[in-house]
Amino acid sequence: MKIDGRCHCGYIAYEAEIDPDKTLICNCTDCQTLSGSAFRVVAYTREDAFKLLTGELKIYVKIGESGNERPQSFCPECGTPIYATAAGEGPKVYSIRLGSVRQRDQIVPNVHVWFRSAQPWIAHIGSMRKIEKQPQIDKTGKVNLT
Ligand SMILES: [Zn+2]
Ligand SMILES: [Zn+2]
Repeated sequence: MKIDGRCHCGYIAYEAEIDPDKTLICNCTDCQTLSGSAFRVVAYTREDAFKLLTGELKIYVKIGESGNERPQSFCPECGTPIYATAAGEGPKVYSIRLGSVRQRDQIVPNVHVWFRSAQPWIAHIGSMRKIEKQPQIDKTGKVNLT
């Protein structure tokens, strides 16, 4: 499946070819911290099937639990995570961060990984009460979630 994406500020734009059947939710603690969220959704492409159209990515190299280096690319202007890959030479797999993909509403993850570190409420996420837009915060700073 052909996809394209961009960061929040628009400095980075890319296109890629992914296999939408191999999309997953990663619950590892590094994805929680690096995404600023409870989990991250990832789709895979290969180095030669990913084309950076505009901008220049910044790379942060994290060390995984395995001890391997995992370069994380992101927009240097707005911080949007774009993909992670392996260090060193050789044909590489890029794990694209689905939040930057324009077609993300058409791509459905089908497995959780690193579920041992998933937040305990993940299983109940579908049954939580839903507010269509921003919650109300009044001038005194009171948050209204009713
Ligand atoms: Zn940006
Ligand atoms: Zn992860």
